[in-house]
Amino acid sequence: MGRPRTPRGRARVTRERLAEAFPGGADQLCALRHDSPFQLLTATILSAQCTDVRVNLVTPALFAAYPDPAALAGADPRRVEELIRTTGFFRSKARSLIGMATAVEDRFGGEVPRELADLITIPGVGRKTGNVVRSVAYGLPGLPVDTHVLRLSGRLGLIDDLAPAARADPVKVEHALNALVPPPERGVFSLRLILHGRATCTARAPACGRCGLADFFPSAHQ
Ligand code: SF4
Repeated sequence: MGRPRTPRGRARVTRERLAEAFPGGADQLCALRHDSPFQLLTATILSAQCTDVRVNLVTPALFAAYPDPAALAGADPRRVEELIRTTGFFRSKARSLIGMATAVEDRFGGEVPRELADLITIPGVGRKTGNVVRSVAYGLPGLPVDTHVLRLSGRLGLIDDLAPAARADPVKVEHALNALVPPPERGVFSLRLILHGRATCTARAPACGRCGLADFFPSAHQ
């Protein structure tokens, strides 16, 4: 096939190839175990600087101890710290979790909000976490930009239209990608980039020799 010459063309081929490599919807591809938006929000806050596998080890006991925002809002911080200790940064994460639950309970009637503008007012919740909740828990448009999405967007030439200084800015990259990805696909596209970034296009040693995207971008990555 001919090599796509524009970010839009490259985004289209990337979407197609990664959809073949990682089939399924956002709810299936998200590795954080959860049964509700509240549980997903909790797990996503815990996943900062921590693997999904480790988060999944601690959340069953956490969810059993605090099954809803009201319970977590009234939690003893030391007990929460104990339960989440192995995820790292456990003191600040415990503060965020209790603050999040308090905000959800007091300001949103115990329901995790759906709008990004509301989500980012909650302690511990930025655009990335808010977009995870929107896309995975609610099936709404939302494109989380993490370190993998930033790196791959640059390597794949998806953000060539941004000024070089803007290519490291997650908000600017999110908006640039939103212009290239149809709303229903945004969350799952982010998850697929993350999976590809972990498995193949790693930060230090991208495995271009076995990459399903290498044939049509051979020089866009240098
Ligand atoms: S060809 Fe290499 S740099 Fe490009 S997406 Fe694949 S692994 Fe990453």
